[in-house]
Amino acid sequence: MSKSERPQHLQPTQRSEEVRLEAKRLLLHIHFCTYCGKKGNLYVGPDGEFWEMEHIVPLHKCGEDHIRNITKSCKTCNVRKGTSLWSACLDGKRIITAASIREKTGGIIWSLEFIRKENPRFAQLMDWRLRIVQERREERKASPSPRTGRNRSNVRRKKTPKMAEARRQTQPSRADNILRRKEVSDLKARVAELRATKKISPHDHWRGYHYYTKTNFHDLDKLLRLVADLEALP
Ligand SMILES: [Zn+2]
Repeated sequence: MSKSERPQHLQPTQRSEEVRLEAKRLLLHIHFCTYCGKKGNLYVGPDGEFWEMEHIVPLHKCGEDHIRNITKSCKTCNVRKGTSLWSACLDGKRIITAASIREKTGGIIWSLEFIRKENPRFAQLMDWRLRIVQERREERKASPSPRTGRNRSNVRRKKTPKMAEARRQTQPSRADNILRRKEVSDLKARVAELRATKKISPHDHWRGYHYYTKTNFHDLDKLLRLVADLEALP
């Protein structure tokens, strides 16, 4: 969902230099990065780069360009955060904003409801995106699948008792499968034993099939023939 698709009133927020300078002045004596918590000094962050004024809700996501939405971070964290919210790691975290320094409130506690309330345009953008995604999903459901040509909403229809019964008639039951698997593993053990006693290398080709074959569940007949052939050997 690129910015060109967005409606006019949900375009990214413009940045103002005055707000940045005010935030910089307020956060001057905060010497640690909000995100990684590492210490720097008056001028530079822990990575040796100048401190950055970071918008908690990115301007690209319609965050407000206001000191309430600005904190201090090192360049590394700012670049890593990019235009994301980092909601998974910031949820419940205390963040010192420029406004909280002025108002002496000791920071904000990050929560989605809180930042939605503080950034009304961001909340609108999120609602708009959710609606678009929902609409696309509905659209996709209504259109036929290119593979089957059928309507997608019918692809996973609920199994009726009649369908379940038909399946039971044609497919082996779970108990049958277990018995069959046991039979196969017994036969495989027998093959290994015969191969050892008759001194046949697992890599020998004999009567057109490989002894070392990964004989699976479906090759019960093949296994029976193999055992019979091996037993017939001198
Ligand atoms: Zn950092």
